[in-house]
Amino acid sequence: MNNFTFWNPTKLIFGKEQLEKLKSEIPQYGSKVLVVYGGGSIKKNGLYGKVMNELKEIDATVFELSGVEPNPRVSSVRKGAEICKSEGIDFILAVGGGSVIDCTKAIAGAAKYDGDAWDMVKNKVRVTEAIPFGTVLTLAATGSEMNSGAVITNWETHEKLSWGSPAVFPKFSILDPENTYSVPRDQTIYGIVDMMSHVFEHYFHLEENTLFQDRMCESLLITIMETAPKLLDDLESYEHRATILYSGTMALNGMLNMGYNGDWATHNVEHAVSAVYDIPHGGGLAILFPNWMKHALHVKPERFKQLAVRVFNVNPQGKSDEEVALEGIEHLRSFWNSIDAPSTLADYNIDDSKLEEMADKATYNGPFGRFMMLEKEDVLSIYRASL
Ligand code: NAP
Ligand code: FE
Repeated sequence: MNNFTFWNPTKLIFGKEQLEKLKSEIPQYGSKVLVVYGGGSIKKNGLYGKVMNELKEIDATVFELSGVEPNPRVSSVRKGAEICKSEGIDFILAVGGGSVIDCTKAIAGAAKYDGDAWDMVKNKVRVTEAIPFGTVLTLAATGSEMNSGAVITNWETHEKLSWGSPAVFPKFSILDPENTYSVPRDQTIYGIVDMMSHVFEHYFHLEENTLFQDRMCESLLITIMETAPKLLDDLESYEHRATILYSGTMALNGMLNMGYNGDWATHNVEHAVSAVYDIPHGGGLAILFPNWMKHALHVKPERFKQLAVRVFNVNPQGKSDEEVALEGIEHLRSFWNSIDAPSTLADYNIDDSKLEEMADKATYNGPFGRFMMLEKEDVLSIYRASL
């Protein structure tokens, strides 16, 4: 285990009827509030009206940025930063899923950054100042509600890049499982795949002595896999929505990876696909992750064996580590198939015509990955296996 400092300042407010906490949380930052949201789901399910009522009660002066895209674009970031600068915004409230929250983080940073928002993202500028913001989460998936990372897309150059800074942790995040009832079945599935993938990204590392961390990762995976089919049978179950919502936050808020850094290559491999084809992040991960696993298995087969035995109940008797590992990966594929997650790029009508372009994008900064360093040829091979 490496030395580490754990610091996560986001106040997590979880449960029913917690929206009223906006009234006690926001005024300390000021009265000019920019509300950021997506393409309209919060208007359909009534959350927009509830948020506006809370803001009215504290006499906030409200500005709005709507239409933030899934896979949020830097053009939305620029619009939001411009409003913050011209109106002297004190606080930003993100109401939505990972895309709205990521966009808000970049707006918060860009509004205090002396330069263009894309330069900030592309050059991974770790801004030290940002406009304070909070979130009302509506979709269980990314963990963005309790971390300091964001993923932003430049649709002109077809790049989708990660960016972050300790200055962009949300001040608070309100997680009411009821606000996720209206998430459609497909987005619910993508969210489940994304949070499981975050655990896998942590799990594959080369550090020794992460006994407790391993078991935290394994127990989170088991919990998600036990709950997912029940939730998909009953999308308005408070208990199952709550379990999945909490799991998504825990999967990527720093709790699982104290003392080591995970691999994170598959996220990069997926971002290059989304950058070219604009597919949902979780859908891409469902296709790519099992193929990354097969590609990286040789690095440390015993790690994959541990996952197979402890999480997928594979019986290791009389089998080599590689055989057990492969069985575990097949179990993962079957589980994702059983919840109707996509399994091939063809599911999104993606053929082999742009594999080179995507592999170039994935490796724009050189080889990447901590468990296994991927070169362009490795990325191409994972894409080909995913066709
Ligand atoms: P999302 O892109 O925020 O939302 C997907 C869709 O779900 C949108 O069309 C949205 O509609 C809809 N939706 C959201 N909440 C809803 C609700 N309660 N009812 C009905 N529809 C709802 O999905 P996401 O998976 O949370 O975020 C994906 C993005 O996050 C990707 O760009 C991915 O790369 C990134 N990501 C970030 C991190 C991180 O740590 N920062 C980690 C992993 C992935 P509306 O637009 O109409 O609201
Ligand atoms: Fe993700």
